[in-house]
Amino acid sequence: MKLAVFSAQPYDQRFLEQVHKAKYSDALEILYHVFPLTTETADLARDCDAVCVFVNDVLTKDVMDKLYSHGIRAILLRCAGFNNIDLKEAEKLGFFVANVPSYSPEAVAEFAVALIQTLNRNTHRAYNRVREGNFNLDGLLGQTLFGKTVGVVGTGKIGLSLARIMKGFGCRLLGYDVYKTPDFDQYGKYVELDDLLSQSDIVSLHCPLMDITRHLINKETLSKMKPGAMLINTSRGGLLDTSAVIAALKNRTLRGVGLDVYEAEAPLFYSDHSSDIIQDDVFQRLMTFPNVLVCGHQGFFTEEALTQIAEVTLSNLHDFKNGLPCKNNLMAKKH
Ligand code: NAD
Repeated sequence: MKLAVFSAQPYDQRFLEQVHKAKYSDALEILYHVFPLTTETADLARDCDAVCVFVNDVLTKDVMDKLYSHGIRAILLRCAGFNNIDLKEAEKLGFFVANVPSYSPEAVAEFAVALIQTLNRNTHRAYNRVREGNFNLDGLLGQTLFGKTVGVVGTGKIGLSLARIMKGFGCRLLGYDVYKTPDFDQYGKYVELDDLLSQSDIVSLHCPLMDITRHLINKETLSKMKPGAMLINTSRGGLLDTSAVIAALKNRTLRGVGLDVYEAEAPLFYSDHSSDIIQDDVFQRLMTFPNVLVCGHQGFFTEEALTQIAEVTLSNLHDFKNGLPCKNNLMAKKH
C-alpha cells in the first residue's frame, strides 16, 4: 500500500512515522507532502492507494474525481470534523472515507479553558507589559470565574469535557444540543439556545460545522447574548459570522472573543506569513482588538492527541486494506 499524506507538517510526520515504524513498516509506504491537497497537487498521489488529509484540505468533487482517476480509493481524515469533504460525491465515487472521531477531547477543552483564562485575566497583555518593564495593572482587570454561567453549545465529547472542567471552577453550566445526553446532567442543565445566550457570561461553541450551524453566531444571535459576555470558538470558524462579531466588539456588547479557528483560515493557518502583507482585512481587523485572542487552530495540538491521531489514521487504513469493518468509516454512517 502507498499513502500520500498532504498538509504534512514536521510534527505530523514525526507522529505518523512512530506508528508506521512500529506497526506497519512492511506493508505500507508513506509519501509526505507539506502542501495541501488541491486539484493541482492531486497528481502527486498518482501511484498511491490512499490519501491522508487535514482540516484545511478541501475535498471537492473536482479533487475527488482526480484522485479516483489516479486509482485512489481511500481518503483518511486525520481530524474529527468532516466539513471539508463532500461526502455525497465521495459516496457516488465509492470512496472509503474515515476520520478520527475522538482524539483527546480533553486537549481541545483544555485549550478552550486556556483561551477563557487568558482573555479573562489579560495574561496575554500582562506578558508583553512585564517584558517591557511596565507593571501597571490598569486594563488588566478580570472577573472571578467562580459562580459565573458558562453556556456550552454542543455537548458532545469536547463540550462535555469543558463542562466538567468549568464545573470544577465553580461555574454554573448551561447546555444546548440538538441531541441531548444524560451525561450532561451531572454538570448543568439543558436550555434552549436563546436562553443559553441570554444567561451565559461565557459562551463556548463545540458543535460541528454543517449547513444548519453555519453562522450560528450572527447579528441576531449576538443581540440575544448577555451584554459583556465572552465568546469562545474552538470548533470551526464558519460557526461565526465574523463581520457581525466585529460589530459586536466595536459596540462593546462582547467583553472578549477567543478563537482557535477562523472562517477563512485555510490560506493563513499552519504556515509562516510573518513577512507577508496579509490581504484578509476582516482577519486583520480582528487582530486590532485588545480583547480578541486568535490562535491558529491548535486546540488538538498535544503529544497525546497526535499519537492518537496517528494510530487511528493508520488503523483506519489497515481496516480498509484488509476489508475489515471500520468503526470510523464515515460512508457507513448517516450525516
Ligand atoms: P462530537 O460529535 O462529540 O460533539 C458535537 C456535538 O454537537 C454533538 O453532541 C452534536 O449533537 C452537537 N450538535 C450537532 N448539531 C448541533 C446544533 N445544530 N446545535 C447544537 N449542537 C449540535 O464532536 P467533538 O469531538 O466534541 O468535536 C466538536 C467539534 O470540535 C468538531 O466538530 C470539530 O469541528 C471541532 N474540533 C476542533 C479541534 C481544534 O483543534 N480546535 C479539534 C477537534 C475538533
